[in-house]
Amino acid sequence: MTKTATQEDSGTNSAPLSPELLDILACPACDDRPAVALTADNRFLECKQCKRRYPIHDGIPVMLVDEAIVDGKT
Ligand SMILES: [Zn+2]
Repeated sequence: MTKTATQEDSGTNSAPLSPELLDILACPACDDRPAVALTADNRFLECKQCKRRYPIHDGIPVMLVDEAIVDGKT
């Protein structure tokens, strides 16, 4: 319900994440906090352990279990 609409029509919304930021990000769903990796399309951060994908909104990774996408089973 909290939709903050500012500027959603900007052409470039795929800002790459810095390696430093990627380095400190960890999956909040896994007990041992494994690192997450950018997906090929740069739109998600994927945990290799639980396979959750965390969306990246405007270059800011949303590391929330509730926002994570879980697709398929291994
Ligand atoms: Zn995980």
